[in-house]
Amino acid sequence: MRLVLLGPPGAGKGTQGQRLAERFDIPQISTGDTLRSHVQEGTMLGVKARAFMDRGEYVPDEVVVEMVMDRLQEDDAQKGFILDGFPRTARQALALEEALDHAGRPLDAVLKFTISDQMAVRRLLNRWTCPNCKRTFNAEFIPPVAQGICDTCGGQLERRADDDELTILRRLAVYRDQTEPLEAFYRERHLLLEIDAEAREELVGERTMSALAPVT
Ligand code: AMP
Repeated sequence: MRLVLLGPPGAGKGTQGQRLAERFDIPQISTGDTLRSHVQEGTMLGVKARAFMDRGEYVPDEVVVEMVMDRLQEDDAQKGFILDGFPRTARQALALEEALDHAGRPLDAVLKFTISDQMAVRRLLNRWTCPNCKRTFNAEFIPPVAQGICDTCGGQLERRADDDELTILRRLAVYRDQTEPLEAFYRERHLLLEIDAEAREELVGERTMSALAPVT
């Protein structure tokens, strides 16, 4: 199964991607997570990416495309993958299409998670993330059992640096401008499956599996 997850920040791509990765036993490849690891480790790529990420803007295409292409070569991605947060621009989408066509491994589906801007802001302002296992919690909707501690691995939950209100609004505007056009790109290719993601995690998970039924 080769999937792309589309949707604005806060739509639940990470959460649903984790569920799908477990369900199909394939890796979830999150460009945001990979970039944050680079930032934390202080690599050259991380230093370059950080200024863009802090402003809520996209990291240049050539940096992200190379990073994803390398990741897709790894052994665990040969049986399938879930791309979470990539592609985000027309250039990235074209680069991915070309690489997958060349390898004879086209996408099976593109899942678009839809939520209102209002709900996205509300979710992101309350989001807490586990830096170890990447699980996310929401202080309002899905709080951890013990405050500040990950239910899954016991890690210390953190707020993401770009989850402040101004940066969230910038990220939503950038999404609308640069990523929303990809919906038409994938609709034309008959790959787009739209999911109403303004519901609790389990229900969105059920909707996702129903939407995927024709391609599983
Ligand atoms: P995310 O964790 O998906 O919300 O991504 C966090 C940040 O990483 C974004 O706001 C961008 O700055 C950067 N980023 C993640 N994926 C991409 C991508 N495909 N293209 C460009 N920048 C990206």
